[in-house]
Amino acid sequence: MPELAVTPNSLFSKFSDVRKRVERIDAFGDVRPFGVVFEELLSPTRAMVDGREVVLAGTNNYLGLSYDETCVAAAKTALDQHGTATTGSRLANGTYSEHVRLEEELKDYFDASSAIVFTTGYQSNLAAIGALAGKGDHLIIDTDSHACIYDGCRLSDAETHVFRHNSPENLERRLARLPETGARLVVIEGLYSMFGDVAPVAELTEVAHKGNAMILVDEAHSVGCYGYKGHGVSAAQGVLDKVDFITGTFSKSFASIGGFCVSRHPELEMIRFTSRPYLFTASGSPANVAVARQALDIIAKSGANRANLWARVRQLYDGLLSLGLTPLSPPGPIVAVEISDELTAVRAWNDLLNQGVYLNLALPPATPQSKSLLRLSVSAAHSEDEIKKILDAFRVVPTGKTLRTAS
Ligand code: PMP
Repeated sequence: MPELAVTPNSLFSKFSDVRKRVERIDAFGDVRPFGVVFEELLSPTRAMVDGREVVLAGTNNYLGLSYDETCVAAAKTALDQHGTATTGSRLANGTYSEHVRLEEELKDYFDASSAIVFTTGYQSNLAAIGALAGKGDHLIIDTDSHACIYDGCRLSDAETHVFRHNSPENLERRLARLPETGARLVVIEGLYSMFGDVAPVAELTEVAHKGNAMILVDEAHSVGCYGYKGHGVSAAQGVLDKVDFITGTFSKSFASIGGFCVSRHPELEMIRFTSRPYLFTASGSPANVAVARQALDIIAKSGANRANLWARVRQLYDGLLSLGLTPLSPPGPIVAVEISDELTAVRAWNDLLNQGVYLNLALPPATPQSKSLLRLSVSAAHSEDEIKKILDAFRVVPTGKTLRTAS
């Protein structure tokens, strides 16, 4: 197809540096790190990439539920009963009985007064942050916040302030400096997706409340994994009943698509009438919602997957330590290994893929502190042998450095 002519000062000029950088990264191997295609999924932890079977060590399938028989059956039943799509937004023609049931079940699970289901986790944060904080209000967010928290701030008419990552002292200072006028909302995450570090939610909640602010905790990566019944980091730190709002996603532990916001403040319900990412987009498909309901039931009733997850987390973490690699955070479902520079990280990523291990390459500016990372995530569905294979692949990294042999 002939390409359209472009003027020298075109819209695309700004992409030339990005293009050069992507081309440089792509040149290292047969598979483009940011263009990986899973040609076939074999299980929650295995897939075919470039004609080869690989172990998946870079998904967010923390509980491994994507092939759970009961979740698959729930999706099939929903398809048969409600069809493939809702074709409309929650406020118009897009609320089905499944959405309402899921909201009731989330309310029960979190012991909340209000629960709202959104089409994605991304939209949950856009919707909650964008609608809760308005003109004259103050949003005070952790500097390492996910893009959708930053985007929620942009969507809101409130003023945004940033505090130092996981620092209650810095949050306290920021709050003390704010003008008296306007409501305040502090936004943090329970488990941070790049370094895999856990927030001091209990302390931050106390500081927020002392500073006259409400607090929203995004538990996207932590629901299902932390806490006695999988409620997340807030529950694990004993403050589930103190946190004002919790957002989360169905795209990770729940093995579906969608997101939610729950609160013990019944007034949260009002954002159904004011939040643009709720009002002006189609609701989640019946199959996705049915899977989220089934996964929630599993998360709430059974700790078996969680126990498997943490056993494999320990195995991977201890194995990396014994190879001389120190992950950036204490043991958790997300394990980040810092690599000295971008190109060494790209080489290492290619080498690991060649050895049959897929993980995430995370490069600046998408990473905190501009670090180059290999990001691994653990799944309850990983077998001991699969974790061993991942560790074996790490024994030799492309710098030529031979790591210590695990005992
Ligand atoms: N919050 C955090 C902390 C995330 O890491 C992500 C996505 N990885 C989201 C929200 C958005 O979730 P989703 O992909 O379900 O839209």
